[in-house]
Amino acid sequence: MQINLKRLKKDIEELGRIGRDPKGGVTRPSFCKADLEARAWLKDKIEEAGLSHRVDGAGNIFGRLGETQGKAVMVGSHIDTVVNGGMFDGSIGVLSGLECLRRIKEEGYRLSKPLELASFTDEEGNLVGDFLGSRAFVGELDKGLLEKELTAFGRPLKEILSGTEFTIESILEAHKSAPEIEAYLELHIEQGSVLETEDIPIGIVDLISGKHYRWCSYVGNASHSGTTPLELRQDAFLGLADFALKSTQYVATKHYGSMVTIGKVNVAPGAFSVVPGQADFSFEFRSASKETMRALESALFSLAEDVATTRGLTFVSKIIDQTEPVNIPPRLISLLREECQKLDYPFMPVTSGAGHDAQILASKTDVAMIFIPSPDGISHSPQESIRWEDLEKGANLLLHALMRLAS
Ligand SMILES: [Zn+2]
Repeated sequence: MQINLKRLKKDIEELGRIGRDPKGGVTRPSFCKADLEARAWLKDKIEEAGLSHRVDGAGNIFGRLGETQGKAVMVGSHIDTVVNGGMFDGSIGVLSGLECLRRIKEEGYRLSKPLELASFTDEEGNLVGDFLGSRAFVGELDKGLLEKELTAFGRPLKEILSGTEFTIESILEAHKSAPEIEAYLELHIEQGSVLETEDIPIGIVDLISGKHYRWCSYVGNASHSGTTPLELRQDAFLGLADFALKSTQYVATKHYGSMVTIGKVNVAPGAFSVVPGQADFSFEFRSASKETMRALESALFSLAEDVATTRGLTFVSKIIDQTEPVNIPPRLISLLREECQKLDYPFMPVTSGAGHDAQILASKTDVAMIFIPSPDGISHSPQESIRWEDLEKGANLLLHALMRLAS
C-alpha cells in the first residue's frame, strides 16, 4: 500500500493558501481568523475521509478510524504557524497522517487497534509558551500562566479566546477527554540541514533536545558617561556582554553539542552619554541529555552571578519555559528502521534540536518522529520548502509504521 502523493500535495497546497501573508509566507497563529478558517477546512477533510471528527477543550482537532473505545495509535502534528512562516512546518505531519488514515480506510485494511489523527493547538507558542495544545492534552498546563501571561500579540489569552468556543477552563479540562494512546508518531521537516548535506531522504529521530528559557536582567547604575570613571561604573551592558561570551565559551568547551543563545536584548536607559543601568535579555540553552540540562542550569546561572559580583551588578532571572530532552524508545526506532528497509528508502539517525508536540506527548506514551530534509535548512520562513519525492517517502514510511503498530 502507498499514499496518494497527488492528493496529499493538493491538500498541503490548499491549506497553505489559508493565511497567506502579504509580507510573505503564511501567518496562521492559533485562533486567529485564518486559523479558524483552517480548522473548518480540516474538519471537512476529516469528515470527507469518513473519520469521526472531535475537538477538545483546547481546540485540538482529532479524526478517528476504528472503534471509539480502546487504546489508539496516534499520528499528528500542528497546523498553526509563526508570523511569516512557511506552509510545511507542522502541516505536512497532520496532512500526511490524514492521508495515511484515508488510504487505510479506502483499502478496507483491517486493524486491531483504532488510529487517531491529531492536530495540536499553538505548537509554535504564539499564545502562552510553546505546545499549548499538546500540554493541555497531557494535562501539564499551569493555570496561573494562562491567566496572567500576555500572548505574543500583547493581549491576554482570555481576550483571544473570546472569539472562539474555548475558554481557559476548557483548555485546563481538555486532558480529561483525551483518549488512551498506545504510541504517537509525527512526521516533520528537519528544520536543519543534516539530511540535505548527507543526501538522505529520511531521518529517524533518536533524541529530541530539551530547552530552558529565561528572561534575565543585569541591574547596575545609570550614570554620566563623561564623568563616571571606568573603574567606578556599574555598567549593566558590560555584565551582559561578559556573560554572553563566558557562557558561550563554557558550553563550547565543556558541553560541545549543546546550545546557548541570547536572542533579544534591551539596554536602558539606552542613550548617548549614559552608562547603561539595566540590561534585559532572553537566555536559552538546549541539550539532548537530561544530565547536561541539569549541569548547564547550575553552571550557567552561577556564572551569571559571578559576573554580577565582579562588576558590582545584580543579576535577576525568571524561568519562562522548559522542556525535558526525550529519548525515543528503541522499539519504535527499530520498527521505523525495519519499515524503511522494506520500502528500500535510505535513512539515517538524527537528533532534533527543535522541540515538537511529540516531546510533550512523551510523558503519556511512547513517541517517535520521522524527518524529511529541509532544503537549505530553512524553516519558520516564507522560503521554507520540501521536495515532494521526500515527502512521499516520509508519508509511506508513516503509513507502514502506523499499520504495524495498529495491527
Ligand atoms: Zn512544527
